[in-house]
Amino acid sequence: MMSPLNKLFSKIEANKEKMLLIRRHLHENPELSFQEVKTAEYIEDFYKTVPVDKLETNINNQLGIVATIEGKHPGKTIALRADFDALPIEEATGLPFTSKNPGMMHACGHDGHTAYLLILAESLAQMKDQLHGTIKFIHQPAEEVPPGGAKGMIAAGVLKGVDAIFGIHLMSTMETGNVYYREGNTQTGRARFSLTIQGKGGHGSSPHLSNDAIVAASSFVLNAQTIVSRRIDPFETAVVTIGSFDGKGQFNIIKDSITLEGDVRTLSLKTSAQVEKHLTHLAKGLEESFLLETSFSYENDYPVLYNHPAETAQVEEALTTAGISEIVAVLETDALPPSEDFAYYLQEIPGSFFYVGAKPKDKDWYPHHHPKFDIDEDSLLISAKAMGAVVLSYCGK
Ligand code: MN
Repeated sequence: MMSPLNKLFSKIEANKEKMLLIRRHLHENPELSFQEVKTAEYIEDFYKTVPVDKLETNINNQLGIVATIEGKHPGKTIALRADFDALPIEEATGLPFTSKNPGMMHACGHDGHTAYLLILAESLAQMKDQLHGTIKFIHQPAEEVPPGGAKGMIAAGVLKGVDAIFGIHLMSTMETGNVYYREGNTQTGRARFSLTIQGKGGHGSSPHLSNDAIVAASSFVLNAQTIVSRRIDPFETAVVTIGSFDGKGQFNIIKDSITLEGDVRTLSLKTSAQVEKHLTHLAKGLEESFLLETSFSYENDYPVLYNHPAETAQVEEALTTAGISEIVAVLETDALPPSEDFAYYLQEIPGSFFYVGAKPKDKDWYPHHHPKFDIDEDSLLISAKAMGAVVLSYCGK
């Protein structure tokens, strides 16, 4: 008799074409975060054709979906998560299934996440007799835009009774065939800040009668560059970026007010707190140095993504022992700079988020969020098998 793992793999293989069609349909019909009405409908309709034991929709009134499969045998409860939102980017891939929605594009692979998870769910639902435990398939909206969809899903109780959660991100930057894991702090946490400097406007011919907000803001921009270089432990990670400086005015008018907005990435809340402290001091210092008013705000949004050791070891073991022929290597990755709202789930329960290489083989590749971003579709089969192996290994124990 075929082992459950081989049975699962052959079901997934039999559904490979269907999986690609799902991905292409989603790719052609992208929707932005918290507005993914048709995408959610599509996922719901798919599950109506699958013998799941429970289907919950429009979770937290934010379009999230959870499908649950009960195995015939006792075991743990595992949750798998795929996100399904797209980005406000005009697609320039020239693919035959290019976005039909102007200014919207699946440029982060969430179409692929959804496609592999649906096929994995369908395949597992057809072999409940051989399954242990309970499997919850979490389809989450709005990964791309803070506050993110994960928070609402958690607030609605989707993790209740779940022992561990796992997720995959397809990566156009990583070779197709390689799968990457990492224990501990793996993706940066993110914060944003805003500084408004209130000076006094006036005429360029009489600077002494005014108080120039542009000069004070420029000083802040330059001094902020010293936080990472002079204030942060060199063995810690931090990035401080000022991405917005609203200085537009008239060439001969002294600007009365400037608002700066910036982004901070760190691998710990402690480092984020240090960055916040030093930015606050610099902002306060402007008041003394330039004799004007400031108002500063700093807000942590997505936390650092922390992969739990035992569950990460289990991912590695499942992937290296499952005999997935399409996997070339299972490797440890360095920490990754982008932030990811899967981090919220990992603050609640143990689990691990891992990465499936999806770099296109026979053409140029582009990073995530690029108008020409694309994935190698072979990565979908790898994802479905890899996550399937994790499920059987985790729930069988
Ligand atoms: Mn993403």
